[in-house]
Amino acid sequence: MRIEVVTLFPEFVAQAVRVGVLGRAIEAGRVAVNAATPREFATDVHRTVDDRPYGGGPGMVLKVEPARTAIRAAKARLPAGSRSIYLAADGERLTHALAREFAQLPGLMLLAGRYEGVDERLIESEIDASVSIGDYVLSGGELPALVLIDAVVRLLPGVLGDDESALQDSFAAGLLDWPHYTRPEVFEGRAVPEVLASGNHAAIRRWRTKQALGRTWLRRPELIEKLTLSPEEQRLLDEFKIERPKKD
Ligand code: SAM
Repeated sequence: MRIEVVTLFPEFVAQAVRVGVLGRAIEAGRVAVNAATPREFATDVHRTVDDRPYGGGPGMVLKVEPARTAIRAAKARLPAGSRSIYLAADGERLTHALAREFAQLPGLMLLAGRYEGVDERLIESEIDASVSIGDYVLSGGELPALVLIDAVVRLLPGVLGDDESALQDSFAAGLLDWPHYTRPEVFEGRAVPEVLASGNHAAIRRWRTKQALGRTWLRRPELIEKLTLSPEEQRLLDEFKIERPKKD
């Protein structure tokens, strides 16, 4: 997969993708990430990329021409079938399902806004979809672009050391993750649940499923309502409810 980010802060994006899972995925050639700035395509001596908003009011707006040239150059480096996304607070909410959809694509062009946002005509002419990472406003689209890249790249085949771990993560099967523990077995008087040290794999699997169902019921009940539970899952959830009743 190839990802192009159009941003006023390409060095920030380039630096951030170097660490952890993402950095290793780039080194292994599973994904290539490039960041480019519209400033490079600004034609005046000050390399102006923003201007005052029509209609007045505070703030500045990212100008069409330099950003459009940067976007087109970025698109030209992407394979056919790639998609162009504008990171925007008013976009479609990023979900696991959307990340999975993007992970099927050969490439993505991600436009990060700044100031009050970008000239609307840029979105109309160059962008396939706007994506938001949540109902809050950030100062720029770089962090949202990085969030999207991270969520997508960890779903690419071979990126995680153990492919299973992406399948077990929260949301992958419509449930939140179960609790995790490592050594020491007792920490400040709190012991790891006995079953996890039992070596009984069937019992461990049941305990984990019960915890995942229970946590989802407690914290995100709307996710449980969307699922069709198997008779075993329903029984495990009923057990969880009896053992740990929901606080009103
Ligand atoms: N005037 C815009 C509004 O009210 O929606 C906010 C602009 S914000 C200060 C600057 C840039 O940050 C936006 O152009 C967008 O690229 C990015 N941004 C801010 N919040 C975001 C969010 N929740 N999700 C995705 N991108 C966001």
